[in-house]
Amino acid sequence: MSSSSDPEKPHLAFLPSAGMGHLKPFCSLAAALSERGCDVSFITVQPTVSAAESCHIADFFAAFPRIRRLDFDLVAYDPSGFASTDPFFLRVQAIRGSAHLLPALLASSSPPFSALVIDIFLASTCIPIAAAIGLPSYIWFISSAAMLSLLACFPTCSAGVSDFEIPGLWRVPKASIPRALHNLSHPFTTQFVENGRILPKASGILVNTFEALEPVALAALNRGKVAPGLPPVIAIGPLQAASLGHEGSPLSWLHGQPARSVVYVCFGNRTAMSKEQIRELGVGLEKSGCRFLWVAKSKIVDREDGEVELEGLLGEGYLERVKHRGLVVKGWVDQEEILRHRAIGGFLSHCGWNSLSEAALHGVRVLGWPRGGDQRVNAEVVARSGLGIWVEWSWDGEEEVVMGEEIGERVRQLMEDDGLQASAARLGEEAVKAVAADGSSGKGLAEFIGMLKMR
Ligand code: UDP
Ligand code: UDP
Repeated sequence: MSSSSDPEKPHLAFLPSAGMGHLKPFCSLAAALSERGCDVSFITVQPTVSAAESCHIADFFAAFPRIRRLDFDLVAYDPSGFASTDPFFLRVQAIRGSAHLLPALLASSSPPFSALVIDIFLASTCIPIAAAIGLPSYIWFISSAAMLSLLACFPTCSAGVSDFEIPGLWRVPKASIPRALHNLSHPFTTQFVENGRILPKASGILVNTFEALEPVALAALNRGKVAPGLPPVIAIGPLQAASLGHEGSPLSWLHGQPARSVVYVCFGNRTAMSKEQIRELGVGLEKSGCRFLWVAKSKIVDREDGEVELEGLLGEGYLERVKHRGLVVKGWVDQEEILRHRAIGGFLSHCGWNSLSEAALHGVRVLGWPRGGDQRVNAEVVARSGLGIWVEWSWDGEEEVVMGEEIGERVRQLMEDDGLQASAARLGEEAVKAVAADGSSGKGLAEFIGMLKMR
């Protein structure tokens, strides 16, 4: 299986992990490579955790009929062995636990594969299995190069976690390191360390970032400053979403708003807020005096969000009071379509990396309110690059509710900051240049395809 039958047409197998934040960029890269002449097979696990994933997969295969679908039947997984009830993490564990079935699945497809493209969560189980059948693995890293740096050097952290210096980059305060990593015997940490250790065994790491956004991290990674032995780290972002041909409903409302006047508020596909915090966020948006488009989410899995009524969440009369300048929606929106709209002037975001790279691509300034995981590390990239600012509000399961007054004040500050608008717009211009064929990321993608053809 070490080489495909036609070296000019490499055959790639894509294996994402769970959640839209992983699935979407995997679909986008698969589509981009298919359009550039690669043969692509996409591995899917059914049923998906969220309804959004299920719709996205259906739309994706309908829009790209050339991309083959490989259904991966997982072995039954016993969740009691893993200290988490998060359905997305449990799915990741189930995929990892079935990695030994991959060779048979891959052997069922022709032409033979030239490479496997995997999510970082799956790296330490999948890379050795692929290597055993002579298949190189590439990681499609869907978070920041800063986060990749933390991952790459974290295995050297054997003492208890405190502030952590990333060589060649910056010092990450303990409060910004994902909470689970504070406990070195936590199962997430064990896996994080294993995934960090296996990085040198990957044939390459593709990152959804670009030179002007993370110049220091990209240079440090590629010059061996962060960790020894890393394969080429190739920036190919910000990758635009594969166009699946839908127009979402908030658009007609946005069409009626003045340019750059609306703050868009969304915390990703799986970050839920308590009812109390949702109420205060509502108060804050109202007090800010700004126009807003807010995707409210009170459940981790979207299928359960459908059962919650907005009026009950936000308090009686809220929607009526704000209707002339605010739109609140529940459920999935097409975020890229929103960020691209001329009416959007700011983004209150949890700092999921996909959201930030979309904000960068469209030059939208960000107010970061990281909530957990990699998000404070990503937020630091926001601040250092001029894309926006961020606040240390409730984090990683902290119960404390941030009051509306404070939220309103920060949102107003964001929307009045012309300097920030200008620097975000400049980054947007750099992003567009980067993804052009002769830009740094366009060349990165060509370099990756070249690596595949040389095999
Ligand atoms: N997204 C969207 N509509 C929504 C919520 C999220 O299109 O209602 C998309 C968003 O554009 C991004 C992804 O889902 O591409 C979320 O990924 P991110 O890394 O920002 O955060 P996560 O959801 O993984 O925490
Ligand atoms: N991550 C990593 N190594 C791992 C697991 C996760 O570098 O072994 C990174 C990856 O970028 C992931 C991020 O940590 O997207 C944050 O993980 P989180 O717990 O927030 O889950 P997500 O929202 O991405 O599913």
